[in-house]
Amino acid sequence: MVNFFINVQKQIKEDLSLIEGDYPDKVLFKKFSSELLNPKRLIKKNLTIKLDNGKKKTFQAFRSQHNDARGPFKGGIRFHPNVSEDEVKALSILMSLKCAVVGIPYGGAKGGIKINPKELSALEIERLSKAYAKALAPYIGPWVDVPAPDVNTDEKVMAYMLEAYEKEVGIHAPGTFTGKPIALGGSLGRTEATGKAGAIILEEYAKEKKLKPKVTTLAVQGFGNVGYWFSYHASKLGFKIVSASDSVGAIYSEKGLDIPKLLTLKEKHGDFSKVAKALKFKFLSNDELLTLPVDVLVPAALEAVITEKNVFLVKAKTILEMANGPVTTEAYKTLKEKAIVVLPDILCNAGGVTVSYFEWVQNLQGYSWTEEKVNEELSKIMKKAFREIHEYAKVKKVDYHVAANLLALKRIIEAMILRGL
Ligand code: NAD
Repeated sequence: MVNFFINVQKQIKEDLSLIEGDYPDKVLFKKFSSELLNPKRLIKKNLTIKLDNGKKKTFQAFRSQHNDARGPFKGGIRFHPNVSEDEVKALSILMSLKCAVVGIPYGGAKGGIKINPKELSALEIERLSKAYAKALAPYIGPWVDVPAPDVNTDEKVMAYMLEAYEKEVGIHAPGTFTGKPIALGGSLGRTEATGKAGAIILEEYAKEKKLKPKVTTLAVQGFGNVGYWFSYHASKLGFKIVSASDSVGAIYSEKGLDIPKLLTLKEKHGDFSKVAKALKFKFLSNDELLTLPVDVLVPAALEAVITEKNVFLVKAKTILEMANGPVTTEAYKTLKEKAIVVLPDILCNAGGVTVSYFEWVQNLQGYSWTEEKVNEELSKIMKKAFREIHEYAKVKKVDYHVAANLLALKRIIEAMILRGL
């Protein structure tokens, strides 16, 4: 398998070659381009904590800070056995692009600890989270680097990290972390932000393509935070979700699914195979969901689910990427040849980081916004971002995926140039 970081670097190089002509000063362009291929700083720490059995154990921890020309570094912290130096480096580059695409004043970062969190007790997770924040304290802060939750980390972990960080620096600084509990300065509207914002992008795209929601069919892979809230808001906007899946498989109804009812039934029965039985609906495998002849396919669970192996079977006209990196580079090339539109993840799932930005703004203001205000501002940012990418794609005669990357890179380079050498 191709190394993820090398792949991202390759993509950035390709994208940079498409905008090179816009910069008359070739030397300057080359200098800034090469800076974009690697993180500005990579922090590696060995964190030793006391286990519940009294023994000590050491864990590898990372933080990659890619680029901060547009503002403080921003990005999640994940707890996962696959966390590696290359993974955080690649993800930090993608975070720089994501923040630039929606025009929020941040650069990109990503962090992680190489662990299987299921093997640790709640107290061990608390100790490890605090050890991470303490070790990272010299490199983070509201105007330096603002971490957030990611895979296997949540508001509880952010609360522990905030406590350890504030203890270390001796002041209250809630704007150092986002995704916190409301009682510690978290923002209203954060939970559903990513899914809701994805539905806003779908609505804007549908307007552009003159698709009528009532007859536009969707299949959504994943029914977790992102998949559920996306489905909820998309169906509220009138779109017809004919299939939705969890890790066991997909439920299908030609007439469309009642999303809140589906959640209630999933909570009651456990998984979609049992829900399908209870409702007497068709039950499909997750692979079958990906090949349904729908208008819009929405991978909202895992990365790399559409690959060179199954891309030829995709029958949807559009893929709206809600998960991070659900389409591999090879598969993406085939989709392009088949004229299947891909609405890119750095746009579609940017609602989460956007509301994280609102959380930071509220913390810096020492004030909290109403949920209505959060949603109103989120909607403005997502609609503007879609419009800009749509127009740029038209002018440059490129697809949405390339347009989003190019726009993001141009914004970052502009900030770098303005700062001078
Ligand atoms: P989650 O853990 O809440 O939900 C994941 C869902 O995927 C669950 O319903 C699970 O049952 C399902 N799933 C697992 N394996 C599956 C499989 N093989 N087939 C189909 N479904 C499967 O996670 P989430 O927060 O909803 O994140 C989903 C994706 O969105 C991830 O790629 C994540 O990186 C990305 N993302 C999340 C956010 C956010 O705010 N939560 C923001 C940006 C990007």
